[in-house]
Amino acid sequence: RLPNFCAGPAAMPTSVLERAQSELLDWQGRGLSVMEVSHRSKEYMAITDKAEAKLRTLMEIPDNYKVLFLQGGASLQFSAIPLNLLNGGRGDYLTTGAWSGKAIKEAQRYEALGLGKINLVATGKEDNFTTVPAQSEWNVSDDAAYFHYCANETIHGIQIFEPPQVDAPIIADMSSCILSQPIDVSKFGMIYAGAQKNIGPAGLVIAIIRDDLLGQASAWCPMLLNYEHQADKESMSNTPATYSWYLAGLVFDWLEAQGGVAAIGKINQQKADLLYKTIDESSFYHNPVDPQYRSIMNVPFTLADSSLDKVFLEESEKAGLLNLKGHRDVGGMRASIYNAVPLEWVQQLVDFMIAFEKKHA
Ligand code: PLP
Repeated sequence: RLPNFCAGPAAMPTSVLERAQSELLDWQGRGLSVMEVSHRSKEYMAITDKAEAKLRTLMEIPDNYKVLFLQGGASLQFSAIPLNLLNGGRGDYLTTGAWSGKAIKEAQRYEALGLGKINLVATGKEDNFTTVPAQSEWNVSDDAAYFHYCANETIHGIQIFEPPQVDAPIIADMSSCILSQPIDVSKFGMIYAGAQKNIGPAGLVIAIIRDDLLGQASAWCPMLLNYEHQADKESMSNTPATYSWYLAGLVFDWLEAQGGVAAIGKINQQKADLLYKTIDESSFYHNPVDPQYRSIMNVPFTLADSSLDKVFLEESEKAGLLNLKGHRDVGGMRASIYNAVPLEWVQQLVDFMIAFEKKHA
């Protein structure tokens, strides 16, 4: 298996794939695959109960939060949030990059339907999403039903490490940073994350929501997007993404065996420090993000001479370093260094970058 720096779907821990492979055809000696089991069977429910319990332990999720295992990706949560929580009030949105930009755009549809008001608190667009606007300049509503932001902008490489200090319940898109370092869940009204970076395969989205935010959904809210309904049905209102859920459970086991979130957080910091140091010490590579907001999961960088981009990608691929092409909105390169990316892969990348610079600068 080669070092894979894909932003998502991202690298999975090899031992998880090996375990899944070992029981693919014959799960628990039952003569069938786990993907062929009824989601309502006792055996399958044991998997989902265990996965939830593991996640609760890993993230220290308080008892007054529900953990939902849903579908439709993080993008469908952009709709679910206003449909469940706007309730005729105001939704505050901070825009710090492409994904929080998409979230507010989707919410504005529900303002147009008369479900409430959507307020842009601030946007980093004028700075090309290289920093977070100063909180003193934010236009926060007095009475917001919720405050939405993206904790890690996967495309622009901006991470907000501590939740903003606002009165409204905070809703964080943690698709690309969940489980990457310890957080205090009790500071949030809701956390959601698409699975395909730090949780498991695509097809699953996890929503962690405080009990008091349930039960306010608009009459327009489709049943499958209704958090209270999904909580009542234990995320099994319809057939869930059973195989992705099973694999998420295996990833949680793996993370626990690594020493949990605090332990992986230390390694993540080392990986990010190594990569940013290499970029900063060179005039050949550049990362534009304000250092205090630099993501420890997604590191975009450009080459001083963009005509070398193609060569960099060809040579890196030849060297067995996969998926380093940057997002088209930002250009250049991007190394996504999620939990399943070991320090050695980042060291290999850094060695390649230094050698490439020597050869081409
Ligand atoms: N939010 C963030 C931060 C993301 O990185 C992504 C996808 O990469 C999404 C939302 C959208 O996720 P999905 O493709 O699961 O809808």
